[in-house]
Amino acid sequence: MKEDYYDILGVSKGASDAEIKKAYRKMALKYHPDKNPDDKEAEEKFKKAAEAYEVLSNPDKKARYDQFGHQAFEGGGGFGGGGMNMDDIFSQFGDIFGGAFGGGGFSGFGGGGSRQRMVKGSNLRIRVKLSLEEVANGVEKKIKVKRKIQAPGTTYKTCTTCNGAGQVMRVTNTILGRMQTATTCQTCGGAGQIIDKKPSDADAQGLKVSEETVSVKIPAGVVDGMQLKVTGKGNDAPGNGIAGDLLVVISEEEHPTLKREGDNLHYDMYVSLPDAVLGTSKEIDTVTGKVRIKIDAGVQSGKILRLRGKGIPSINGYGKGDLLVHVNVWTPKTLNKKQKEFFENMRDDEHFEPKPESSDKSFFEKVKDMFS
Ligand SMILES: [Zn+2]
Repeated sequence: MKEDYYDILGVSKGASDAEIKKAYRKMALKYHPDKNPDDKEAEEKFKKAAEAYEVLSNPDKKARYDQFGHQAFEGGGGFGGGGMNMDDIFSQFGDIFGGAFGGGGFSGFGGGGSRQRMVKGSNLRIRVKLSLEEVANGVEKKIKVKRKIQAPGTTYKTCTTCNGAGQVMRVTNTILGRMQTATTCQTCGGAGQIIDKKPSDADAQGLKVSEETVSVKIPAGVVDGMQLKVTGKGNDAPGNGIAGDLLVVISEEEHPTLKREGDNLHYDMYVSLPDAVLGTSKEIDTVTGKVRIKIDAGVQSGKILRLRGKGIPSINGYGKGDLLVHVNVWTPKTLNKKQKEFFENMRDDEHFEPKPESSDKSFFEKVKDMFS
């Protein structure tokens, strides 16, 4: 149930315009946010009073309210649920307090703190391609960057509008006391300086494009799409501002044989039928070069060999992933007469019948293992 507007302002239904205005003034002063910092209750009361006054000070709205109550403003137009925001309320004050509050807002209101604005140059974004080896080992990259720099020969002078402050202060004597209003200087955009002289190849802000080589240290373990920030290597700001940042976006190149999955790597290894039966050793790729691994006689297709710590280092610095070598036994699709005879003979040999042991885990158990 919404509170009655007359009750909020503490006036009777037959109150005159002057009485309503006087009642509102009193409440606005009492609950003004500048007088009640961080007091939510006061702010609520301040807003409620403003809403009540907005209606009761308008002959049209007042008539509707007198006839229909709050329903007069429901479902569009009025103040249904949202109420008024602070800007609305302050813009109303010109009417109440005689123009002293026009525009700008109040100092110390709405977050408070200093309004001093450091002008910062814009950021630059550049994509860097890394091989899997570079990702795994970390790398220092030299990147060519076209960035805007302050053109030599550009001179600045103090902004005469704000005298270098970057903001314009207005002090007004109001019914609430001395009020300070601060707004960003329109002439210099808050920088406090404006261009005095600039060379012909500089743009309107006294900047020109320069190609620079920036060295970026990329730590091991970065992930595709990750963004690294190089502070101050974006575009310069005009005058005494600070330069923007260079954002380096990591793009990981696909490796011909190694597939990355998080910090783990996967390698598909193909073994011939005789090698699988007799055992062998094979060279495989790793991110730190080739490594020879032993394949036991009688290896099953689908076996996964785990090389601990041969994966990608964690970007957080917690250890390294593993390299998982998947064994695939290669079955020939065609055979000559002699080979065919050999396998025909083996077919009748009971020794070749599959006899899975408990150590020959099912595919699903292997997958479960892989992620443990
Ligand atoms: Zn200025």
